[in-house]
Amino acid sequence: MWRRPRQIGRFAVTSLTDGCFALDGGAMFGTVPKTVWEPLTGSDAQNRIPLRINPLLLEVDGLRILVETGFHDGGDRSWQERFAVRREETLLGGLAELGIAPADIDLIVHTHLHFDHAGGNTQAGQRRFPKARHLVQRQELYDANHPHERSRASYLQEDLEPVERAGAFELLDGEAEILPGLRVVPLPGHTLGQQGVFLESEGQQLVYVADLLPTAAHAHLPYIMGYDLYPVTTLEVRRRWFADWLEQGALLALPHDPEVAFAQLELDPKGRYRLRREG
Ligand SMILES: [Zn+2]
Repeated sequence: MWRRPRQIGRFAVTSLTDGCFALDGGAMFGTVPKTVWEPLTGSDAQNRIPLRINPLLLEVDGLRILVETGFHDGGDRSWQERFAVRREETLLGGLAELGIAPADIDLIVHTHLHFDHAGGNTQAGQRRFPKARHLVQRQELYDANHPHERSRASYLQEDLEPVERAGAFELLDGEAEILPGLRVVPLPGHTLGQQGVFLESEGQQLVYVADLLPTAAHAHLPYIMGYDLYPVTTLEVRRRWFADWLEQGALLALPHDPEVAFAQLELDPKGRYRLRREG
């Protein structure tokens, strides 16, 4: 597929994909009843809704920056079937189409370390992006290394260990400027250490919203995933940032929408948030 980068000021931004998967619709919508979410997403015979993995490539000043590394590359057949994994398109394939090899990636920004976001860090026990520094919140790496019964299934140590062994994680404590125009901002709730990626350049704005807003169907404030460890924190963080993003007309990049990579918030006639597709 031919991918056209969009320009956000000085940054060339390309939406990539690392394939499709599916998760239980009830788990994806928390307290929202199926009669409400099902018309928005559809569902398969196992009650799952379609999702996609949408990492971003940012290019500026000769630097190549990945936001997220995609889905865990592995797992046995029953694990793959549980998530209906389909990898017709991959992150590496998309990069190759752009003439970019894994060794050309300078920097990786992790929103969080779940296997559907940081799963492409490694391949067969080796780092996949040998020259990249991996930026993550200190809290997130700590929690990934100290999972509890509720979080354990989301963190796969084989995605993280080779990066840790190489000393390639760079730990952040809260908001941080990565480069001029590129910063990370804590967006806790899904996990405590989740962060969003905020681009601001020459008056244009793009936010990679992480699992604060996984798909376009999740725009209404209380449509919060059952997977979130701190759902009320998610609600407060949404309330605070959605108001900003609406007012500023920020372009939002969605990590899991099966069709919509970029969107903008707007209000429906009842005053609820919804998303308008922007490519
Ligand atoms: Zn996710």
